[in-house]
Amino acid sequence: SADTQLNWNKAPCRFCGTGCSINVATRDNMVVATHGDFKSPVNRGLNCVKGYFLSKIMYGEDRLTQPLLRMSNGQFDKNGEFTPVSWDTAFDVMADKFKQALKNKGPTSVGMFGSGQWTVMEGYAAVKLMKAGFRSNNIDPNARHCMASAVAGFMRTFGIDEPMGCYDDMEAADAFVLWGSNMAEMHPILWTRITDRRLSASHVKVAVLSTFEHRSFDLADIPIVFTPHTDLAILNFIANYIIQNDKVNQDFVSKHTRFVRGNTDIGYGLRDDDPLEQAAKNNADAGGFEDIDFAEFARFVSTYTVEYASELSGVPQERLIQLAELYADPNTKVMSLWTMGFNQHTRGVWCNNMVYNIHLLTGKIAEPGNSPFSLTGQPSACGTAREVGTFSHRLPADMVVANPKHRQIAEEIWKLPEGTIEAKPGFHAVMQNRMLKDGVLNAYWVQCNNNMQAAANMNQEGLPGYRNPKNFIVVSDAYPTVTAQAADLILPAAMWVEKEGAYGNAERRTQTWYQQVTPPGEAKSDCWQIMEFSKRFTMEEVWPDELLQKAPQYRGKTLYQVLFENGQVNQFGLDQINQSLPNDDAKHFGFYIQKGLFEEYATFGRGHGHDLAPYENYHSARGLRWPVVNGQETLWRYKVGSDPYAKSESGEGWDFYGKPDGRALIFALPYEPPAESPDETYDMWLVTGRVLEHWHSGSMTQRVPELYKAMPDALVYMHPDDAKNRGLRRGDEVSIQSRRGAMRTRVETRGRNRMPVGVVFVPWFDASRLINKVTLDATDPISKQTDFKKCAVKIEKV
Ligand code: SF4
Repeated sequence: SADTQLNWNKAPCRFCGTGCSINVATRDNMVVATHGDFKSPVNRGLNCVKGYFLSKIMYGEDRLTQPLLRMSNGQFDKNGEFTPVSWDTAFDVMADKFKQALKNKGPTSVGMFGSGQWTVMEGYAAVKLMKAGFRSNNIDPNARHCMASAVAGFMRTFGIDEPMGCYDDMEAADAFVLWGSNMAEMHPILWTRITDRRLSASHVKVAVLSTFEHRSFDLADIPIVFTPHTDLAILNFIANYIIQNDKVNQDFVSKHTRFVRGNTDIGYGLRDDDPLEQAAKNNADAGGFEDIDFAEFARFVSTYTVEYASELSGVPQERLIQLAELYADPNTKVMSLWTMGFNQHTRGVWCNNMVYNIHLLTGKIAEPGNSPFSLTGQPSACGTAREVGTFSHRLPADMVVANPKHRQIAEEIWKLPEGTIEAKPGFHAVMQNRMLKDGVLNAYWVQCNNNMQAAANMNQEGLPGYRNPKNFIVVSDAYPTVTAQAADLILPAAMWVEKEGAYGNAERRTQTWYQQVTPPGEAKSDCWQIMEFSKRFTMEEVWPDELLQKAPQYRGKTLYQVLFENGQVNQFGLDQINQSLPNDDAKHFGFYIQKGLFEEYATFGRGHGHDLAPYENYHSARGLRWPVVNGQETLWRYKVGSDPYAKSESGEGWDFYGKPDGRALIFALPYEPPAESPDETYDMWLVTGRVLEHWHSGSMTQRVPELYKAMPDALVYMHPDDAKNRGLRRGDEVSIQSRRGAMRTRVETRGRNRMPVGVVFVPWFDASRLINKVTLDATDPISKQTDFKKCAVKIEKV
């Protein structure tokens, strides 16, 4: 049969952070079919509509197949036309620009912007290139727009990143609370598990909180639409309700928590020169926070009465009490889930801390069904952006560049002389755009993301930097995205199963895949691009002489030799390429170079709570949740008996070992108003987000005909009364204007989103209608994550 000609292999889905396992069929060097893996513990054979069409994402008509350089008269010209060039020419011009920047202004003039779509190995290679090779910490992932507040929340409360629970909680919980997450569209496969649980157990309740009604409200027993930004007050009300009703789990709280006042923006290794950061470091044991006692915390939240929370949020009091009761009732196991509603918030870190507060007050944490769970948006937001340390302030395994001990550990593993890694955190995502605009950052490489469509206020803060004549911008992508078109050099990138890789999903599950087809034309993986580019630099060109004096063995070597041939990459990688191999695929597709990068990276986390299994194990397993110790994955962290790192004298209970005293922090944090609110001129709230059919900026899914037809345009969803009051009808063309820019689209008053009066929603997937010309680039002062969920706009008929 035709099936006998197919070659089936496994891979995780290319899109969201759920990490569904996929079986991939290839024939004649093409992916011809995919389906959900029935043996997968994550998706149990299911795919959402995006996953269903995975086989088509690589075959868009405008796939990039060769490097393109802006040229005129045979020379690079910033204002020239994109012209096909060889890889050699591309790297020659690019290396020249990077060398000029390094020579003239030093390491802070070069930068890189990546993503949680990099494979683990790609992200790791990029971190090494920038932080060890160029000695620049100016590398950040687009996870800064997505998960930075969640990371800071974890670090502040628990001292270690990523969720303590796992997807198994979905079959054990009695109540689900969605805080600013539309799982029905953004995490549809996990939503099927919650729907299954809700419909098969009559006592189970679902609460959905948002600033408008979306598809997840269809399952809600407790639907809550609140005034933007007032989730802070609702969270404090719940803490107050638990205390007032004597539902605090006193035994848990006294043994495993500490109360602190934490409303200063410190404690997260942001900027070395920030006086607040310095204060935090000087008081490192306390994490920069001031200890308070339970009574003081109780007094602090006591002002958040149901009357006050209701008045501020616009939510009826009885609805708020219903919600609080889910947490307060000792017999109800609660799973809280959140994504961008919390994280993309000028107080996103606080939101994360405050939801942990209520789980910690009740002891509902780190056991089956009791689970505060931060969902992720990108396939390897956890595995790459966070665990590998691609943030501008981080190193692998939760370490930070500002900590001398952490730098020393990284330098030892990377075989670098002391003092190679810079202590000062680099420019984060928003700052990178600003520094490009100001001509401070001059040589810049973007891989695996579409930041000119994704970043807020992009006309004023994004494009000017890309087109600044002082700068040279390189974009590696598979398609000519908005970002690629703003670049000076475009490098064609391999996608998904056109390369070998690994992703880490939201439940700490690491999954790998083999390369299964070759990329089209001259397209190459990001990993190959990084390694080949590093061959263009001698150590004398990138390091100062005083550093080379400490490592004379590196004189005359290339960056490639020092970074990639010198450590375990070589030990596991290049040396073994010609030795006996597990199968021909592995030999052909560079198994050992991937293994080398993976294993070297894994040494950072082994023995430190982030243990990964040997690389080979992932190719036979359908992913493993770290820490993997003695071959066993960990489902619930911090619970003695479940997590090998959690210890107690009695052999039971909890151990929050990310903190020196084993206690998680409960924060006294206030409500604060948003950065911008509607006024007489800009009289409506704008909320942006994603849709079911498209993933992020739509650069892949808009090229799948079925998905494009299902959702071709980004419309503005508004309440019928708001439309009527402006003389608008469904389908009318309108201009959405803010203080920063404008965007045109058509009005939708029906359909999937039911907007309250005064709030509009526009998705950001549509490259032909860029809502991020309108959005505000205000960031959380701790995480530096942008608030895409609220700004003030006016809407006019055109
Ligand atoms: Fe699963 Fe997300 Fe892929 Fe859909 S997009 S199949 S939910 S991983």
